Amino acid sequence: MEERHLNHLEPLGPLYEMAQNQFLKAAELIDLEENIKNFLLWPQKILTVHFPVMLDDGRVQMFVGYRVQHNTARGPAKGGIRYHPNVNLDEVASLAFWMTWKCAVMNLPYGGGKGGVKVDPYKLSERELERLSRRFFSEIQFMIGPNKDIPAPDVNTNSKIMAWYMDTYSMNVGVTTLGVVTGKPVDLGGSAGRAEATGRGVAIVANEAADVLGMDIRNTTVAIQGFGNVGSYAAKIISEEYGAKIVAVSDISGGIYNADGLDIDDLIKYRDENDGVIKGYPGGEPISNRDLLTLDVDILVPAALENAITEDIARDVRAKIIVEGANGPTTAEAEKILLEKGIFIIPDILANAGGVTVSYFEWVQDLQSFFWDIDDIRKKLKKMMVREFGEVYKTMKKFKTDMRTAAYIVAIDRVASAVRKRGYYPM
Ligand code: GLU
Repeated sequence: MEERHLNHLEPLGPLYEMAQNQFLKAAELIDLEENIKNFLLWPQKILTVHFPVMLDDGRVQMFVGYRVQHNTARGPAKGGIRYHPNVNLDEVASLAFWMTWKCAVMNLPYGGGKGGVKVDPYKLSERELERLSRRFFSEIQFMIGPNKDIPAPDVNTNSKIMAWYMDTYSMNVGVTTLGVVTGKPVDLGGSAGRAEATGRGVAIVANEAADVLGMDIRNTTVAIQGFGNVGSYAAKIISEEYGAKIVAVSDISGGIYNADGLDIDDLIKYRDENDGVIKGYPGGEPISNRDLLTLDVDILVPAALENAITEDIARDVRAKIIVEGANGPTTAEAEKILLEKGIFIIPDILANAGGVTVSYFEWVQDLQSFFWDIDDIRKKLKKMMVREFGEVYKTMKKFKTDMRTAAYIVAIDRVASAVRKRGYYPM
């Protein structure tokens, strides 16, 4: 047979390549067939949109946004939309790729998707933010739908924006369609417990990790980078419900350290009264981002953006457990160093999967028009996260590998099984 290049697609960027390498490490350990490997390495659909938004002063500004569906073998695409000045296709594609594995690790009937708009939302007025959100959603709408692709909040997007998305879609199709996005307000088809879900999941797996390492979480200290939705709920739940001591927290404005433990409710209240940032909080001393990441704590939770823990920082990290609240916070080089130091890393695709898990609950509730109470949600989330943590931990032992590779193995197994049974259309 003539020789052919079976995998000659254009590279998407350095972050996507790092994500592909994480996948390949696991694929090799389980001898994944070439055909499936080639298929799963690439996103299925990529959409770039350039769209106009009228500013309050009457000028029109152009924006760029993306929606990527990595793989839909197990179900409709699922994943958030972020607003950030550094958004680009490499990032959105990587985040979509991770969503495929995150949904599969949790055994949710979804594939992976992600979206983003390159914008600093803090520079827009409320009306401009609404116009941008509604126009972007209209632009990507042909790819979206409750059985096709279901967006959700991510960095700098929230329930208010999800309500605009839901309304925009509903107006365009002429039918109120609650199941088209998750993370909506609770009185508009949202789910109890969705806002706290990612942070709660981080707390649940941190507790599981402490357990398997023979530590009592009540005697642990914790540092958290990022005090947005994920970081603040993780801080609250790890301290209030699990009894750990949060000694440091940071956000874009800086960090706060208190060896006796921070009062998280008080810090959240301060943030909400001070333009959403913790700078100047009187209950602790200032601490730099680097010093926070390298603090002598038991548990470190990077809950901000990608590439937070670099090689240089990794050398000085002293935590015993890292729980990746953010997506992609550890670079490949950094991870190598951390693993050599014996640090236990709970990877993003497991650690922050609580959010999409309760998004799944929200979607099911929307489709059935039957809503559950908060106790049911919390109980189900905990059960699923404990079960899949156990699955990944067992796989780590079996393959004598790290937790990230083990999580990929569990996820790849599930996605590959779907691909084998569905085949490659047309056969
Ligand atoms: N954006 C979140 C994530 O990265 C949540 C996705 C969702 O709920 O669909 O997991």
